[in-house]
Amino acid sequence: MSNRLAGTEKNVWVEFGKLSADYKALNLGQGFPDYHPPRHVLDIFAKLVVGDNPLIHQYTRSYGNPHLVTTLAKLYGPIMGREIDPMTEVMVSCGAFGILFSTIQGLINPGDEVIIIEPFFDCYEPMVRVAGGKPVFVPLRPTQKEGPLTSNDWTLDREEIAKAFNSNTKAIMVNNPNNPIGKLYRREELDLIADLCKQHDVLCIADEVYEWMIYRGHKHIKIATLPGMWDRTITVGSAGKTFSATGWKLGWAVGPQPLIKTLMVLHQNSIYTCPTPIQEAVAAGLDYEISVFEDEEKCYLKSLALKELAPKRDALAQVLTEVGLTPTVPEAGYFMMADISKINVDIPDDGTDDPFDFKFIRWMTKNKKLSAIPPTAFYSQEHKHLGEKFVRFCFIKKDETLEAAAKVLRDWK
Ligand code: PMP
Ligand code: GLN
Repeated sequence: MSNRLAGTEKNVWVEFGKLSADYKALNLGQGFPDYHPPRHVLDIFAKLVVGDNPLIHQYTRSYGNPHLVTTLAKLYGPIMGREIDPMTEVMVSCGAFGILFSTIQGLINPGDEVIIIEPFFDCYEPMVRVAGGKPVFVPLRPTQKEGPLTSNDWTLDREEIAKAFNSNTKAIMVNNPNNPIGKLYRREELDLIADLCKQHDVLCIADEVYEWMIYRGHKHIKIATLPGMWDRTITVGSAGKTFSATGWKLGWAVGPQPLIKTLMVLHQNSIYTCPTPIQEAVAAGLDYEISVFEDEEKCYLKSLALKELAPKRDALAQVLTEVGLTPTVPEAGYFMMADISKINVDIPDDGTDDPFDFKFIRWMTKNKKLSAIPPTAFYSQEHKHLGEKFVRFCFIKKDETLEAAAKVLRDWK
């Protein structure tokens, strides 16, 4: 193994995915639905795959199928408030993962510092380290109060974030909405980050894969739309998240030509191109979404959170509150943090020096047949103590799965 990979061997998805399957547990762990993606998207896909165009099964343009990048430019143009050039300001890769990898490898030099807000999607840290960069961590901290929190109760300390910036800082990673908290950054918070980026000439990697899953009364603001931010921001999206088809593994970046060019150089020499049928299906699916964008009933990008996920979120929050696992109710996304500090359980020593949440979830998966994800996987070594009294549940699951999980929690004692 190359020296670059040292320290990146462990992976939370590999361990907890396998554990859940091995113990046939109710899987509220990794973020994917246990039911079908929307019917109209499946129909589009099926028709394309067996349709008349043989080229649908062959290589397509390296940086993104022309139909898909054109549609993405059309979708994001009005949201970003600018005309987007599909050929030079958009790139497609294998999942948001592929985009994050191209972005970080393409832009970070050895010794560059990259600010990562905690808790963060776990791959950010190894990706930065493998590129030779130095991650600098700044945690969101929950307000100390009794009873359920909302994701907006997790906030950045202004001084802490300002102190993280210096002349070696190359980029900041802003995951909005945040996984695992579901935090939707407020305009003032984004202004603060944007001002620091401009002051210190820093790039922004805006991971917005949960951009559509916004609950009623809230609004997602793209940091790329703030004054002076377009030129320094790569915005990341995911078809797997957009259409609840995580196995489709297609992601995209939207940003200024000089930054996107860098991603293209890395991509053409690594992945080269992504599956054509999936790109065509996502393009056609998004064409439909654009045509019904103002219709909350018909537009899946809107109805997913407002109609489908909101009752699931509320039901899970209610059960967690009832059994004393205080939830952080998310304003966006499909994850919920639960505070396990009051839970009545004596975890046997499992022979590791892993944080409490890892041990707790291993035990819960084996003994209660319920799995979740340990949030300390989303923290740096120095800040793991901030996450170890929580677990992350995923609630984009069938009602019957959520009801079975609720029963496990209610029957706990
Ligand atoms: N970023 C975040 C915040 C995520 O939660 C995920 C997981 N879907 C990804 C990136 C990767 O997305 P994809 O499945 O499209 O690779
Ligand atoms: N984003 C998903 C989650 O947080 C899936 C993670 C992954 O595929 N590695 O659960």
